[in-house]
Amino acid sequence: MQDTFYRNTWAEVNLEAIGYNITQMKQKLPAETRIIAVVKADGYGHGAIEVAKKAVKTGASAIAVALLEEAIVLRHAGISVPILVFGWVSPQDTPLAADYNLTLTFFQMEWLQEVKDRTFQRPLKLHMKWDTGMGRLGIRTEKELKQLLDELAESPNTRLTGIYTHFATADAADLTYYDEQQKRFQTLLQTFRKRWRHPVAIHIGNSAASIRFPEDMFQFTRLGIAMYGLYPSKTVKQERKINLKQAFSLYSRLIHVKKIQAGESISYGTTYTAKEDEWIGTIPIGYADGWIRKLQGMEVLVNGKRMPIVGRICMDQTMLRLDKAYPVGSKVTLIGKQGNEEITMDEVAAYLDTINYEIPCIITSRVPRVYK
Ligand code: PLP
Repeated sequence: MQDTFYRNTWAEVNLEAIGYNITQMKQKLPAETRIIAVVKADGYGHGAIEVAKKAVKTGASAIAVALLEEAIVLRHAGISVPILVFGWVSPQDTPLAADYNLTLTFFQMEWLQEVKDRTFQRPLKLHMKWDTGMGRLGIRTEKELKQLLDELAESPNTRLTGIYTHFATADAADLTYYDEQQKRFQTLLQTFRKRWRHPVAIHIGNSAASIRFPEDMFQFTRLGIAMYGLYPSKTVKQERKINLKQAFSLYSRLIHVKKIQAGESISYGTTYTAKEDEWIGTIPIGYADGWIRKLQGMEVLVNGKRMPIVGRICMDQTMLRLDKAYPVGSKVTLIGKQGNEEITMDEVAAYLDTINYEIPCIITSRVPRVYK
């Protein structure tokens, strides 16, 4: 992210909150369970490099990302702890991953056979992914597991350093499917232990599983959303098992304020017409910043009070109905606290009928991230 910016819209990322959330999680986990900080998608929109550095400083032992390029960016930024790539990496790129001392995820026989034929300067570290019910990536049967282990035993270029699975419903009120996944994992684990004598790291949990079942997390937990101070679901929030602090706030400033007469309209399509004389403020944020058109009608904070967004949100500008005239330059809070009021990520997510994970991810890189 650039250091200098000229626009009057910015996101503030509170790294202290991220440190606080990691510490909260560490206090819940048994001493032998360490933290993999998940910073894929540019740290869920918060900034992968800054979050990864803070996480390592606060005691995370490893980092995880989705893509090979995300991992390489972190190595270039000086992150030296183990980095696990969750996603599928093409066999032709595996020597590069080994050069950067990255750990890749694998689950396919053809992939392993292709990797076996390549030349490596140093062995490639691998974590095997087991699909116990997520239905996304991973081996599903004991037969596949045995075949892959046989192939691995004959792959001198690779080192199996971990195995893992991912839950589909760890955040849900009904834990039937979670229990089913746990059962499938145990079945595979028994087979694995009979066949593989070398030590490996085991990790099964995301934020929800770690908050709710910290004792069951084996050597690592993969901490994503909770590290950013957001609860994985309403159910997890209501259980009050952990206290989290939201790290991401979004701010803008009034750049134009005017009075319009009753009957006058605002923005494309004239979807809003003033019923009486009104004060209208303009802020320089729009759908090109990820402040999408569906947020029309959502409230923001000015002078510690809620004011609605009126008229269509444009590519670069959004209009607000103000309760009175405010000076140009007045701060507007779109996500975060102002005075005694707060607009949470959860409120924005609910307005858009989506999950809190999606909101910081859709705020585009055009919005500078400022760290404090
Ligand atoms: N593990 C894997 C494989 C993931 O894909 C993710 C993110 O979706 C996580 C862990 C982190 O999950 P959460 O953000 O719910 O903690």
